[in-house]
Amino acid sequence: MARIAVVEKDRCFPVKCGDFLCRKLCPVNRTGTDCITQGEDGKARIDEALCTGCGICPKRCPFGAIHIINLPEELGSAPIHQYGENGFHLYNLPIPIFGKVVGILGRNGIGKSTAIKILAGTLKPNLGNLWGEPSHEELIERFKGSEMQRFFEEVKAGGIRIGYKPQNIDQIPKAFSGRVRDLLTKADERGMLDEIVPLLQLEKILDRDITHISGGELQRVAIAATVLKRANLLVFDEPSSHLDIKQRIRVARFIRSLADEETAVLVVEHDLIILDYMTDLVHLMYGAENAYGIVSGPKATKAGINTYLSGYLKEENVRFRDSAIAFSTRPSESARRTETLLAWKGLKKTLGDFELTAEGGEAQREQVLGILGENGIGKTTFARILAGEIQPDAGELSDTGKVSYKPQYLEAGDAPAAMILADAVAKHQTTVVRPLGLDRLMDKTLAELSGGQLQRVAIARCLAQQADLYLLDEPSAYLDVEQRLIVSKVLRDFAEQAGKTVLVIDHDLLFIDYLSEKLIVFDGEPARRGAVTGPFTMGEGMNRFLGDLDITMRRDQESHRPRINKEGSVMDRRQKEAGKRYYT
Ligand code: SF4
Ligand code: SF4
Repeated sequence: MARIAVVEKDRCFPVKCGDFLCRKLCPVNRTGTDCITQGEDGKARIDEALCTGCGICPKRCPFGAIHIINLPEELGSAPIHQYGENGFHLYNLPIPIFGKVVGILGRNGIGKSTAIKILAGTLKPNLGNLWGEPSHEELIERFKGSEMQRFFEEVKAGGIRIGYKPQNIDQIPKAFSGRVRDLLTKADERGMLDEIVPLLQLEKILDRDITHISGGELQRVAIAATVLKRANLLVFDEPSSHLDIKQRIRVARFIRSLADEETAVLVVEHDLIILDYMTDLVHLMYGAENAYGIVSGPKATKAGINTYLSGYLKEENVRFRDSAIAFSTRPSESARRTETLLAWKGLKKTLGDFELTAEGGEAQREQVLGILGENGIGKTTFARILAGEIQPDAGELSDTGKVSYKPQYLEAGDAPAAMILADAVAKHQTTVVRPLGLDRLMDKTLAELSGGQLQRVAIARCLAQQADLYLLDEPSAYLDVEQRLIVSKVLRDFAEQAGKTVLVIDHDLLFIDYLSEKLIVFDGEPARRGAVTGPFTMGEGMNRFLGDLDITMRRDQESHRPRINKEGSVMDRRQKEAGKRYYT
């Protein structure tokens, strides 16, 4: 076993812990040998060669700053890249393949961005050598006999040109200004702007300023700018964020179409249905957040995603989640439920040019309802009516009891996370706080949290309120794949165990499929009119929804997760003929 020691410097507070508590407790130090010392930066420094791996310091550090990790011998001792002494280690790299779309699947904080930066040529890997920079020859030697050797030879010869769509598109309007048309024309090295505009539905925003478009529009502009570059390695980091389901499918088809003999495509994506639809192969990434990350060998997408859901990598003999995520083949609907919590009839609401109508429907106690619909079709307006935030112009709405509402947009602010989460800790420590990994955020203020951390805090706060109806607007936004799977389980368990009604608006179909007993589906025309229909059974609701998207879905035989059928495939044709777009 190779052993690495990682100290998260921003969690190490030697004064607060009682003057290097770890150093005082380390058995090696106690024999008079300097295993843990004070580094030049004033933080704890661990000598990996002297550490025996006793496990005392990671357990006793009050801030959870230390990770001592035993790695399988076959990984070799040197990582591909290491950020300083006792810093993050990355092992292996994903392999871009010409003619294929290759996905990267794994949680945040375990080196996906580092791996992408290395492939994109913006970060030179140090092969664990902190004191010198390896030459291209050393890199090629390291990967001798693998696909990566060929790739780095191409990089060395200047044959790889990269187009990169970053994860954080919110930064784009801060760096650029001007009309979308002008920005894309500037980026258009291939003279393909006219061809790409309709494929990404950019017509209506070409003459708008980049600072005045929505998140979903910005995402599609960023994808267009990447593709317009003369590049033969295209890298898309989270291309589905901010997009609704229709847009996700359109973008997935578009990205799929980009791989050819001369173009390799790499995608990081947390929406598993979209990742499944878009890629030929996937690499799984596992490890510990901020400590280390390992990239698995490439796997066929179907098998790779099933392995990920199982939480266990057979070939590597690594368990990275305590339990498997299991999908049921039938919609789960409790027979014992009888009491109606909430009912609406003939609701109408006009906001400017937009009109929302809701014919009639109801929600039962202890039920989880999924809500599906395009962007701009009134989902949030409906949620705000149910939450009592706005009043309908007409129609009847029963007394909903107390409503706890998690809005789509989260406010950060200076409040300490520990204060916001006090109720959640008191009521749901084991069922919500711990599974969502919130213990480690208690010493931060909301303003210091990332988008994903803030989202998890907001979900926990929503569930901790005393209410009858829990309404969550886009809880999967900003979450990585692992967090989405955990949140879906937490919400489902919460509804069951606390006996509450939970309504979830989201664009991640796998998330909604796992959670929901019934579906509310929005019809209409974005920005003009929206009609609330349902609740339907999962089969009926998905059937309506998918009809609008012109796709069909089946369940994977092994994991029972939903998958999009290939257009025109036998299954696709058969299901369309039978009018069963979604197999429950
Ligand atoms: Fe103290 Fe933990 Fe830092 Fe060691 S790693 S000095 S125990 S805060
Ligand atoms: Fe010392 Fe290593 Fe044990 Fe930590 S794990 S206390 S560094 S021997």
